[in-house]
Amino acid sequence: MTKLYIVIPCYNEEAVLLETATRLREKMHKLMSENIISGDSKVILVDDGSGDGTWALIKRIHYSDRMFSGCKLTRNQGHQNALLSGLDCARGKCDAVISMDSDLQDDINAIDEFVKKYEEGYEIVYGVRDSRKNDSFFKSKTAKLFYKLMNLMGAEIVSNHADYRLLGSRALEGLFEFNEVNLFLRGIVPLVGYKSAKVYYERKERFAGKSKYPLKKMISFAIDGITSFSIKPIKMITSLGVIFVLVSGIMLIYSLLSYFTGHSVSGWASLITSIWALGGLQLLAIGIIGEYIGKVFLETKKRPRYIIEEFLDDDDESDTKNTKSN
Ligand code: UDP
Ligand code: MG
Repeated sequence: MTKLYIVIPCYNEEAVLLETATRLREKMHKLMSENIISGDSKVILVDDGSGDGTWALIKRIHYSDRMFSGCKLTRNQGHQNALLSGLDCARGKCDAVISMDSDLQDDINAIDEFVKKYEEGYEIVYGVRDSRKNDSFFKSKTAKLFYKLMNLMGAEIVSNHADYRLLGSRALEGLFEFNEVNLFLRGIVPLVGYKSAKVYYERKERFAGKSKYPLKKMISFAIDGITSFSIKPIKMITSLGVIFVLVSGIMLIYSLLSYFTGHSVSGWASLITSIWALGGLQLLAIGIIGEYIGKVFLETKKRPRYIIEEFLDDDDESDTKNTKSN
Protein backbone atom coordinates (compact mmCIF):
# COMPACT_ATOMS: atom_id res chain seq x y z
CA MET A 1 0.00 0.00 0.00
CA THR A 2 1.27 3.42 -0.90
CA LYS A 3 1.66 6.10 1.72
CA LEU A 4 0.52 9.09 -0.25
CA TYR A 5 0.94 12.78 0.47
CA ILE A 6 -0.85 15.48 -1.46
CA VAL A 7 0.63 18.98 -1.58
CA ILE A 8 -1.59 21.95 -2.38
CA PRO A 9 -0.31 25.54 -2.65
CA CYS A 10 -2.98 28.09 -1.73
CA TYR A 11 -2.85 31.81 -2.31
CA ASN A 12 -5.92 33.79 -1.28
CA GLU A 13 -8.12 30.76 -1.71
CA GLU A 14 -10.62 31.15 1.12
CA ALA A 15 -13.46 30.86 -1.39
CA VAL A 16 -12.58 27.33 -2.46
CA LEU A 17 -10.58 25.80 0.33
CA LEU A 18 -13.40 24.28 2.40
CA GLU A 19 -14.94 22.63 -0.62
CA THR A 20 -11.54 21.34 -1.73
CA ALA A 21 -10.88 19.91 1.74
CA THR A 22 -14.30 18.26 1.90
CA ARG A 23 -13.91 16.59 -1.47
CA LEU A 24 -10.36 15.52 -0.76
CA ARG A 25 -11.31 14.06 2.60
CA GLU A 26 -14.00 11.97 0.93
CA LYS A 27 -11.62 10.88 -1.80
CA MET A 28 -8.82 9.99 0.62
CA HIS A 29 -11.15 7.96 2.84
CA LYS A 30 -12.44 6.10 -0.18
CA LEU A 31 -8.91 5.30 -1.36
CA MET A 32 -8.02 4.15 2.17
CA SER A 33 -11.04 1.89 2.45
CA GLU A 34 -10.19 0.36 -0.92
CA ASN A 35 -6.67 -0.27 0.37
CA ILE A 36 -5.13 1.76 -2.44
CA ILE A 37 -3.37 4.15 -0.06
CA SER A 38 -2.37 3.63 3.56
CA GLY A 39 -4.32 5.05 6.50
CA ASP A 40 -1.59 7.51 7.45
CA SER A 41 -1.65 9.31 4.12
CA LYS A 42 -1.96 13.08 4.33
CA VAL A 43 -2.74 16.34 2.63
CA ILE A 44 -0.41 19.32 3.12
CA LEU A 45 -2.00 22.72 2.54
CA VAL A 46 0.61 25.42 1.94
CA ASP A 47 -0.39 29.00 2.59
CA ASP A 48 1.66 31.10 0.20
CA GLY A 49 1.51 34.32 2.24
CA SER A 50 -2.17 34.91 1.59
CA GLY A 51 -3.70 38.23 2.56
CA ASP A 52 -7.15 36.83 3.28
CA GLY A 53 -8.38 34.22 5.77
CA THR A 54 -6.69 31.27 4.06
CA TRP A 55 -4.36 30.43 6.94
CA ALA A 56 -7.13 30.63 9.55
CA LEU A 57 -9.13 28.27 7.37
CA ILE A 58 -6.21 25.86 6.99
CA LYS A 59 -5.81 25.81 10.77
CA ARG A 60 -9.50 25.04 11.20
CA ILE A 61 -9.30 22.24 8.67
CA HIS A 62 -6.22 20.83 10.41
CA TYR A 63 -7.80 20.86 13.88
CA SER A 64 -10.97 19.21 12.64
CA ASP A 65 -9.12 16.46 10.80
CA ARG A 66 -5.49 15.58 11.39
CA MET A 67 -5.24 14.12 7.93
CA PHE A 68 -4.64 17.72 6.87
CA SER A 69 -1.38 19.44 7.68
CA GLY A 70 -0.73 23.14 7.21
CA CYS A 71 2.40 24.95 6.23
CA LYS A 72 2.59 28.72 6.31
CA LEU A 73 5.17 30.67 4.36
CA THR A 74 6.33 34.03 5.69
CA ARG A 75 5.26 35.84 2.52
CA ASN A 76 4.02 35.27 -1.00
CA GLN A 77 6.70 33.39 -2.90
CA GLY A 78 4.77 32.33 -5.96
CA HIS A 79 3.18 29.05 -6.92
CA GLN A 80 6.39 27.18 -7.78
CA ASN A 81 8.15 28.00 -4.52
CA ALA A 82 5.04 27.32 -2.46
CA LEU A 83 4.77 23.94 -4.11
CA LEU A 84 8.41 23.22 -3.46
CA SER A 85 8.09 24.07 0.24
CA GLY A 86 5.19 21.61 0.51
CA LEU A 87 7.19 18.93 -1.28
CA ASP A 88 10.01 19.57 1.15
CA CYS A 89 7.67 19.02 4.10
CA ALA A 90 6.55 15.73 2.56
CA ARG A 91 10.11 14.59 1.94
CA GLY A 92 11.10 11.43 3.74
CA LYS A 93 7.63 10.88 5.14
CA CYS A 94 5.83 9.17 2.29
CA ASP A 95 6.20 6.80 -0.66
CA ALA A 96 4.76 9.20 -3.19
CA VAL A 97 3.56 12.78 -3.35
CA ILE A 98 1.01 14.34 -5.65
CA SER A 99 0.98 18.09 -6.26
CA MET A 100 -2.22 19.77 -7.31
CA ASP A 101 -3.99 23.16 -7.36
CA SER A 102 -6.41 24.22 -4.70
CA ASP A 103 -9.15 25.35 -7.04
CA LEU A 104 -10.43 21.88 -7.99
CA GLN A 105 -9.38 22.34 -11.61
CA ASP A 106 -7.35 19.19 -11.41
CA ASP A 107 -9.68 16.22 -11.36
CA ILE A 108 -9.16 14.43 -8.05
CA ASN A 109 -10.53 11.23 -9.52
CA ALA A 110 -7.29 10.88 -11.45
CA ILE A 111 -5.51 10.10 -8.18
CA ASP A 112 -6.43 6.38 -8.45
CA GLU A 113 -4.72 6.22 -11.81
CA PHE A 114 -1.66 8.12 -10.53
CA VAL A 115 -1.18 5.66 -7.68
CA LYS A 116 -1.75 2.69 -9.96
CA LYS A 117 1.00 3.89 -12.29
CA TYR A 118 3.29 4.45 -9.32
CA GLU A 119 2.70 0.91 -8.14
CA GLU A 120 3.47 -0.34 -11.64
CA GLY A 121 6.92 1.13 -11.15
CA TYR A 122 6.70 4.62 -12.62
CA GLU A 123 8.57 7.07 -10.45
CA ILE A 124 7.06 10.17 -12.10
CA VAL A 125 3.47 10.42 -13.34
CA TYR A 126 2.41 13.51 -15.29
CA GLY A 127 -1.20 14.64 -15.28
CA VAL A 128 -1.97 15.76 -18.82
CA ARG A 129 -5.20 17.53 -19.60
CA ASP A 130 -7.05 16.04 -22.51
CA SER A 131 -8.85 19.18 -23.63
CA ARG A 132 -8.78 22.88 -23.09
CA LYS A 133 -12.42 23.52 -23.65
CA ASN A 134 -12.80 25.15 -20.24
CA ASP A 135 -10.06 27.67 -20.88
CA SER A 136 -10.67 30.98 -22.54
CA PHE A 137 -9.69 31.20 -26.22
CA PHE A 138 -6.86 33.52 -25.28
CA LYS A 139 -5.47 31.29 -22.54
CA SER A 140 -5.53 28.16 -24.66
CA LYS A 141 -3.81 29.91 -27.58
CA THR A 142 -1.12 31.49 -25.41
CA ALA A 143 -0.56 28.19 -23.61
CA LYS A 144 -0.09 26.42 -26.94
CA LEU A 145 2.39 29.05 -28.07
CA PHE A 146 4.24 28.69 -24.78
CA TYR A 147 4.69 24.92 -25.12
CA LYS A 148 5.76 25.31 -28.75
CA LEU A 149 8.29 27.97 -27.84
CA MET A 150 9.64 25.95 -24.93
CA ASN A 151 10.16 22.88 -27.07
CA LEU A 152 11.71 24.95 -29.84
CA MET A 153 14.13 26.34 -27.27
CA GLY A 154 15.15 22.86 -26.29
CA ALA A 155 13.47 22.39 -22.89
CA GLU A 156 11.87 19.00 -22.65
CA ILE A 157 8.55 19.86 -21.18
CA VAL A 158 5.43 17.73 -21.38
CA SER A 159 2.72 19.49 -23.39
CA ASN A 160 -0.49 20.35 -21.57
CA HIS A 161 0.90 19.25 -18.26
CA ALA A 162 0.60 21.81 -15.50
CA ASP A 163 1.75 21.01 -12.00
CA TYR A 164 -0.58 18.08 -11.38
CA ARG A 165 1.84 15.20 -10.99
CA LEU A 166 2.99 12.35 -8.82
CA LEU A 167 6.57 12.00 -7.68
CA GLY A 168 7.84 8.86 -6.03
CA SER A 169 10.14 9.34 -3.05
CA ARG A 170 13.25 8.71 -5.15
CA ALA A 171 12.23 11.25 -7.77
CA LEU A 172 11.47 13.69 -4.95
CA GLU A 173 14.96 13.27 -3.55
CA GLY A 174 16.31 13.76 -7.06
CA LEU A 175 14.36 16.97 -7.43
CA PHE A 176 16.00 18.42 -4.32
CA GLU A 177 19.43 17.85 -5.86
CA PHE A 178 18.56 20.78 -8.12
CA ASN A 179 19.37 23.88 -6.15
CA GLU A 180 18.45 26.57 -8.60
CA VAL A 181 16.70 29.64 -7.32
CA ASN A 182 14.93 30.29 -10.61
CA LEU A 183 12.61 27.44 -10.23
CA PHE A 184 10.57 26.08 -13.08
CA LEU A 185 9.35 22.69 -11.94
CA ARG A 186 7.84 21.65 -15.26
CA GLY A 187 11.26 21.93 -16.84
CA ILE A 188 13.22 20.35 -14.01
CA VAL A 189 11.09 17.28 -13.32
CA PRO A 190 11.86 15.67 -16.72
CA LEU A 191 15.56 16.24 -16.00
CA VAL A 192 15.30 14.19 -12.81
CA GLY A 193 14.93 11.15 -15.03
CA TYR A 194 13.42 7.79 -13.95
CA LYS A 195 10.62 5.98 -15.70
CA SER A 196 7.63 8.21 -16.26
CA ALA A 197 4.04 7.81 -17.35
CA LYS A 198 1.16 10.11 -18.30
CA VAL A 199 -2.37 10.13 -16.99
CA TYR A 200 -5.03 12.04 -18.93
CA TYR A 201 -7.71 13.99 -17.13
CA GLU A 202 -10.22 16.66 -17.89
CA ARG A 203 -9.32 20.04 -16.48
CA LYS A 204 -12.38 21.67 -15.01
CA GLU A 205 -13.26 25.27 -14.48
CA ARG A 206 -12.08 26.97 -11.31
CA PHE A 207 -14.55 26.11 -8.56
CA ALA A 208 -14.64 29.63 -7.10
CA GLY A 209 -12.45 32.69 -6.80
CA LYS A 210 -10.28 34.26 -9.48
CA SER A 211 -7.20 32.99 -11.27
CA LYS A 212 -4.02 34.04 -9.51
CA TYR A 213 -2.22 34.09 -12.84
CA PRO A 214 -3.06 37.32 -14.62
CA LEU A 215 -1.47 38.01 -18.00
CA LYS A 216 1.48 39.83 -16.48
CA LYS A 217 2.38 36.85 -14.29
CA MET A 218 1.85 34.46 -17.20
CA ILE A 219 4.30 36.40 -19.38
CA SER A 220 6.96 36.54 -16.70
CA PHE A 221 6.42 32.84 -16.02
CA ALA A 222 6.96 32.10 -19.71
CA ILE A 223 10.09 34.27 -19.95
CA ASP A 224 11.48 32.68 -16.80
CA GLY A 225 10.68 29.25 -18.12
CA ILE A 226 12.50 29.87 -21.37
CA THR A 227 15.53 31.69 -20.01
CA SER A 228 16.12 29.31 -17.14
CA PHE A 229 16.10 26.34 -19.46
CA SER A 230 17.75 27.34 -22.63
CA ILE A 231 20.59 29.49 -23.88
CA LYS A 232 19.23 29.37 -27.42
CA PRO A 233 18.07 33.01 -27.37
CA ILE A 234 21.67 34.11 -26.77
CA LYS A 235 22.88 31.83 -29.55
CA MET A 236 20.25 33.29 -31.84
CA ILE A 237 21.60 36.76 -31.12
CA THR A 238 25.08 35.63 -32.09
CA SER A 239 23.84 34.23 -35.40
CA LEU A 240 21.88 37.39 -36.01
CA GLY A 241 25.06 39.39 -35.36
CA VAL A 242 26.97 37.33 -37.94
CA ILE A 243 24.23 37.84 -40.51
CA PHE A 244 24.27 41.60 -39.92
CA VAL A 245 28.02 41.81 -40.32
CA LEU A 246 27.68 40.04 -43.68
CA VAL A 247 24.85 42.34 -44.72
CA SER A 248 26.88 45.41 -43.77
CA GLY A 249 29.75 44.11 -45.92
CA ILE A 250 27.40 43.89 -48.86
CA MET A 251 26.10 47.37 -48.08
CA LEU A 252 29.66 48.72 -48.06
CA ILE A 253 30.34 47.33 -51.50
CA TYR A 254 27.00 48.69 -52.70
CA SER A 255 27.65 52.18 -51.38
CA LEU A 256 31.18 52.27 -52.83
CA LEU A 257 29.77 51.25 -56.18
CA SER A 258 27.08 53.93 -56.07
CA TYR A 259 29.67 56.50 -55.04
CA PHE A 260 31.82 55.76 -58.04
CA THR A 261 28.88 55.68 -60.41
CA GLY A 262 27.69 59.03 -59.06
CA HIS A 263 24.36 58.20 -57.30
CA SER A 264 25.48 58.80 -53.75
CA VAL A 265 23.12 61.46 -52.31
CA SER A 266 19.88 59.57 -52.40
CA GLY A 267 19.44 56.75 -49.91
CA TRP A 268 18.38 58.69 -46.86
CA ALA A 269 15.37 56.42 -46.40
CA SER A 270 17.37 53.22 -46.33
CA LEU A 271 19.85 54.84 -43.97
CA ILE A 272 17.27 55.93 -41.44
CA THR A 273 15.54 52.55 -41.47
CA SER A 274 18.77 50.73 -40.88
CA ILE A 275 19.57 53.02 -37.96
CA TRP A 276 16.27 52.19 -36.34
CA ALA A 277 16.50 48.51 -37.13
CA LEU A 278 20.02 48.20 -35.78
CA GLY A 279 19.22 50.27 -32.70
CA GLY A 280 16.19 48.14 -31.95
CA LEU A 281 18.08 44.92 -32.45
CA GLN A 282 20.89 46.04 -30.20
CA LEU A 283 18.48 46.95 -27.43
CA LEU A 284 16.76 43.59 -27.81
CA ALA A 285 20.06 41.78 -27.69
CA ILE A 286 21.18 43.66 -24.60
CA GLY A 287 17.82 42.93 -23.01
CA ILE A 288 18.09 39.20 -23.59
CA ILE A 289 21.65 39.08 -22.34
CA GLY A 290 20.57 41.14 -19.34
CA GLU A 291 17.89 38.58 -18.58
CA TYR A 292 20.56 35.90 -18.29
CA ILE A 293 22.93 38.06 -16.29
CA GLY A 294 20.05 38.75 -13.93
CA LYS A 295 19.56 35.02 -13.54
CA VAL A 296 23.24 34.48 -12.79
CA PHE A 297 23.07 37.31 -10.26
CA LEU A 298 20.13 35.72 -8.47
CA GLU A 299 21.71 32.28 -8.50
CA THR A 300 25.00 33.49 -7.06
CA LYS A 301 23.23 35.14 -4.15
CA LYS A 302 21.61 31.82 -3.26
CA ARG A 303 18.73 33.43 -1.48
CA PRO A 304 16.28 31.09 0.22
CA ARG A 305 13.41 30.15 -2.02
CA TYR A 306 10.97 30.30 0.89
CA ILE A 307 10.89 30.46 4.67
CA ILE A 308 8.40 28.41 6.61
CA GLU A 309 6.83 30.34 9.46
CA GLU A 310 4.66 27.61 10.89
CA PHE A 311 4.11 23.94 10.22
CA LEU A 312 1.05 22.23 11.60
CA ASP A 313 1.53 18.52 11.67
CA ASP A 314 0.65 16.04 14.38
CA ASP A 315 3.36 13.52 13.62
CA ASP A 316 5.38 14.60 16.62
CA GLU A 317 2.35 14.65 18.94
CA SER A 318 2.12 18.37 19.53
CA ASP A 319 2.10 20.86 16.70
CA THR A 320 5.49 21.94 15.64
CA LYS A 321 6.26 25.54 15.11
CA ASN A 322 9.51 25.53 13.31
CA THR A 323 11.23 27.83 10.97
CA LYS A 324 12.98 26.41 8.07
CA SER A 325 14.30 27.91 4.93
CA ASN A 326 15.33 26.60 1.58
N1 UDP B 1 -0.83 30.06 -6.17
C1 UDP B 1 0.13 30.23 -5.17
N2 UDP B 1 0.88 31.38 -5.15
C2 UDP B 1 0.75 32.37 -6.08
C3 UDP B 1 -0.21 32.17 -7.13
C4 UDP B 1 -0.96 31.01 -7.14
O1 UDP B 1 0.29 29.37 -4.31
O2 UDP B 1 1.45 33.38 -5.99
C5 UDP B 1 -1.64 28.82 -6.19
C6 UDP B 1 -3.14 29.02 -6.25
O3 UDP B 1 -3.69 29.17 -4.95
C7 UDP B 1 -3.62 27.76 -6.91
C8 UDP B 1 -2.47 27.41 -7.85
O4 UDP B 1 -1.34 28.13 -7.37
O5 UDP B 1 -3.79 26.69 -6.01
C9 UDP B 1 -2.76 27.75 -9.30
O6 UDP B 1 -3.17 29.08 -9.42
P1 UDP B 1 -4.43 29.53 -10.30
O7 UDP B 1 -5.51 28.52 -10.20
O8 UDP B 1 -4.79 30.91 -9.90
O9 UDP B 1 -3.79 29.54 -11.76
P2 UDP B 1 -4.52 29.08 -13.13
O10 UDP B 1 -5.16 27.76 -12.86
O11 UDP B 1 -5.48 30.14 -13.44
O12 UDP B 1 -3.38 28.98 -14.10
MG1 MG C 1 -6.44 27.33 -11.43
